[in-house]
Amino acid sequence: MGSPGAGKGTLAARLKALRVEHFSSGDYFRREIERRTPLGRSIEAAMERGELVSDEMTLQLLRQWFWGRPASRGFLLDGFPRTLVQAVNFDEWLDVRQETLTGCLLLELPEEATVERLTGRRVCPRDGRLYHLKSHPPANPGVCDDCGSELVRREDDEESVVRHRHELYLESSRPLIEHYRNQGLLWRFSAEGDPAEVARRVLDRFDLNFIES
Ligand code: AMP
Repeated sequence: MGSPGAGKGTLAARLKALRVEHFSSGDYFRREIERRTPLGRSIEAAMERGELVSDEMTLQLLRQWFWGRPASRGFLLDGFPRTLVQAVNFDEWLDVRQETLTGCLLLELPEEATVERLTGRRVCPRDGRLYHLKSHPPANPGVCDDCGSELVRREDDEESVVRHRHELYLESSRPLIEHYRNQGLLWRFSAEGDPAEVARRVLDRFDLNFIES
């Protein structure tokens, strides 16, 4: 878990050596939008406003993912559950399959750092590679190092949308944080600093140093 821009996806990529599936609900939604389905169009409208996709639509899609995967394989979830309703439903799915969560990582980033991070973010529309104007610029301004495509800014990375997403996150995450704290599963981390530093904090705390960060 973490506010927008806290680096959930970046951290997940660095924990790849855990050899569990990395599943990002945001990526899953973006693929649904690309497929131009009716559900994809409703999701797109919510995302462009910087709002959460409704619990109903989220659960409808995430159910497909959850029940379609082999029960024996673990997963690293990024972006789901994001509300208490989603978490309660998710607990029920886990119970039915007799699976348990190992922990819930919470990445925390103050609002101003969030704005700086997200408004400077650029993405390659072709291969999804992420850049940042300050901290990770492409070799040639505005174009992807790998494929040469022109980089774009995600519509929900516009400043006013970012502030709205941050505020919404604080509101909606409070009961969710409580939910996992009550289950003794919550692990909090500062998301400030570069990705390697954040990954190191997590690895040290979980004693996962056998994994290359
Ligand atoms: P992310 O890539 O995780 O920043 O997600 C981008 C956007 O997708 C969010 O701002 C939400 O609009 C939507 N989204 C992703 N995951 C969820 C979720 N679990 N529940 C509701 N909306 C979500």
